[in-house]
Amino acid sequence: MSRNQKIAVSEYFYSLQGEGKTMGIPAIFLRLTGCNLMCGGYGVEKDGKLRDGATWLCDTIKVWMKGTTYGFASLVELLNKDIDFIQRLQNGVHLVITGGEPLLQQERIVAFLEYIEQEHGCRPIIEIETNATIQPLDTLDVRVQYWNTSPKLSNSGMPKPERIVPDVLKWFAQNPNTMSKIVIAEESDYDELEQDFIAKGYIDPKQIVLMPSADSIEELLAKNQLVADLCIQHQLRMCTRMHVEIWNQLTGV
Ligand code: SF4
Repeated sequence: MSRNQKIAVSEYFYSLQGEGKTMGIPAIFLRLTGCNLMCGGYGVEKDGKLRDGATWLCDTIKVWMKGTTYGFASLVELLNKDIDFIQRLQNGVHLVITGGEPLLQQERIVAFLEYIEQEHGCRPIIEIETNATIQPLDTLDVRVQYWNTSPKLSNSGMPKPERIVPDVLKWFAQNPNTMSKIVIAEESDYDELEQDFIAKGYIDPKQIVLMPSADSIEELLAKNQLVADLCIQHQLRMCTRMHVEIWNQLTGV
């Protein structure tokens, strides 16, 4: 079996898309292992303490840092047994490939999607959630209906050259299937978005969705108003976090 017939997966579940343009749509989530960033600041994975100016923490670190590498046939068998994978995709349920940073494994994603098309006659509706720092392959782009990007501001605690990769951002800005989710913790975050991304042509304002930084229902309610005011003022789309509203701090739902 070649290297590209395997993929590293951290978790999978069947739920509803909780954020962005397709919020509310039934979706199977395939969370791939590994990320090239560490939002919250490098070291946060060890003690949970925010560093380097971070005001929020990646809520899936503990999940994407671990994973299992599966051959495609055994992965599909497992997914079929647990969540009726192929049948649901055939019915139009979206396949949301997330992470971590799934594009770290993009050649494997292409191979997996080719595999399920050839072996199971299944070409699902694909959403990919990415931090927009890695250039997608054309062979992947042709299979993706929704690119859900989440470029990071300085409130992620990540160094600028790691989180802002101009050529990659411009590629996404020119792709009609892109929607950029921006996490807002305070009002000055919008100024940074304007200065570092919009003014430079790295993000098209029509593709932006502002979202409050919140991993608990209390935090979400406190920040919704701020984000709503910013969206009204700057004519941007807003979304809250449906999963936090319904399931609060549970993951894997
Ligand atoms: S890029 Fe996404 S998955 Fe990676 S650390 Fe940041 S929030 Fe978490």
